[in-house]
Amino acid sequence: MIISETKPFVQIIDSLKGYTRIFLVGCGECAATCKTGGEPELAKAKEMLEAADKRIVGMCMPSAPCVASQVKAEFAKNMKSLREAEVFLVLACGLGVQSVKDNDRLGLAVLPALNSIFPAVMDAQGNFLEKCSLCGDCVLDKTAGICPVTLCPKGLMNGPCGGVDKGKCEVDKDKDCVWVLIYKELEKKKKLGDLLEIRKPRDFKKQTRPHKLMVNI
Ligand code: SF4
Ligand code: SF4
Repeated sequence: MIISETKPFVQIIDSLKGYTRIFLVGCGECAATCKTGGEPELAKAKEMLEAADKRIVGMCMPSAPCVASQVKAEFAKNMKSLREAEVFLVLACGLGVQSVKDNDRLGLAVLPALNSIFPAVMDAQGNFLEKCSLCGDCVLDKTAGICPVTLCPKGLMNGPCGGVDKGKCEVDKDKDCVWVLIYKELEKKKKLGDLLEIRKPRDFKKQTRPHKLMVNI
């Protein structure tokens, strides 16, 4: 999921300068889970914006605003209020904001209410942990399911740097060195031989942006 945080309200108000009639769009997936774009956050945004003399002409919450079909379906249901709006304020990640823009047939302004921070898993306690950098060349099969690209601050691919100290990372002494974790995990699984394979420098071409994956060729 994509982790997001709410922009400071003064920044949102500043971006809305010159607009009065606002249509709010939330997100029923990631932003709802982050408590930045679900129903309570839409209601709070409405209250704060109305207190700042803005008019909320309508709102909707596609379950995943990054999916065109869901945005289109919500917009079709809300066309009457959308025709009154001057601007969308989107409580979703940057994907959701751009998807709203791409699927808006009325040519309204589209503004973000959130900052997108990182992709993450949510653990059993509800913490969000960054575990993958979407590098396009996954090595988890050789690293006991632990990602050195993301979890090592230097992104080292062939074992620890010289700074590892009593198993801790030199960049953050509170954290275990990821290569120590990988070693212990491979040892448990009797797969230490995987460490003998020297990985070539990463092919950064695989991270050239923007990516595109066409499904209907
Ligand atoms: S190696 Fe790490 S960053 Fe790359 S795809 Fe696998 S988990 Fe993601
Ligand atoms: S101590 Fe380990 S995790 Fe920290 S930067 Fe060095 S190799 Fe990476």
